[in-house]
Amino acid sequence: MKAMVLKKISLVEEKPLELVDLPNPIPGPGQIRVKVSACGVCHTELDEIEGRVPPSRFPMILGHEIVGRVEELGSGATKFKQGDRVGIAWINWACGQCPFCLSGEENLCDNAKWTGKDVDGGYAQYTVVSEDFAYPIPERFTNLQAAPLLCAGAIGYRALKLSRMDDGRVLGLYGFGASAHIVIQIAKHRYPNARVFVFTRPNQEEHQNLARKLGADWVGATGDTPPEKLNCAIDFTPVGVPVREALRNLEKGGRVVINAIRKITPIPELDYAKYLWHEKEMKSVANITRMDVQEFLPLAAEIPIVPEVREFGLEEANEALIVLKQGKIRGAGVLDISA
Ligand SMILES: [Zn+2]
Ligand SMILES: [Zn+2]
Repeated sequence: MKAMVLKKISLVEEKPLELVDLPNPIPGPGQIRVKVSACGVCHTELDEIEGRVPPSRFPMILGHEIVGRVEELGSGATKFKQGDRVGIAWINWACGQCPFCLSGEENLCDNAKWTGKDVDGGYAQYTVVSEDFAYPIPERFTNLQAAPLLCAGAIGYRALKLSRMDDGRVLGLYGFGASAHIVIQIAKHRYPNARVFVFTRPNQEEHQNLARKLGADWVGATGDTPPEKLNCAIDFTPVGVPVREALRNLEKGGRVVINAIRKITPIPELDYAKYLWHEKEMKSVANITRMDVQEFLPLAAEIPIVPEVREFGLEEANEALIVLKQGKIRGAGVLDISA
């Protein structure tokens, strides 16, 4: 099979992924082999490549927003049949026995394995996964549309749940990429009387136009003061300043959820009286549970979410990651691996 592999920590601008030929992976007991149709391009890949979240071995096949068809069943695998369309997300395996797993927080499992970080992922024509960590994909989505639902969408859904958002409240979204453009569609569907305010980098006109098209009630730049205080905010950015900005614009008793695996710049010092007092809260989102994906995919079909997708070939993965880093992808970047 063809695969784009990472052999060492590098800058994304150095185009570190190499196209190689590898033997097709063989499904072990309880696993399925999936012929990959599409794989989303996620900010986490930038963190892996540049060493903020290093892969656990090299070479590694990145990619954890995988859509494909079941092509071969390992021994004892019974949940799917050949030809079924499935998705694979960031959570690749969890122990099922630790206190976190037993309390529904498998996203915090110390022994968990992550797709494209500890186990080869979807920047390839084939991959294998335990049948317990694959999900049926609703029919209404194309392969390219479904891919970003598996991380950008599902983790956005988790962040929105954690934000304590409710109808009639004000939600602020800092950063408007793959995840936020899905979250606004969930929020507008679930909370028809809510206001959603979107903050982007000042030069991201394409992102701002997409936010308006998707129903944002106000759009501005990070640093702007919105027309109302925010009851809930979600920060999707890779940098630190928007966290302080969200706290500055937060209503008393509000919560800021940070949807990022790493920050490339620190969160600035937080003056207690100005940014935290009055029972303001800050909470990060870490990883994802299978339940998040299982709840979100049918909801995405019901709404229906319409992901905005920019398509790249498998061989163009380096270029896709560079424009992602530059903040120039409107919606979600996805590799088309169907050829
Ligand atoms: Zn566990
Ligand atoms: Zn991701």
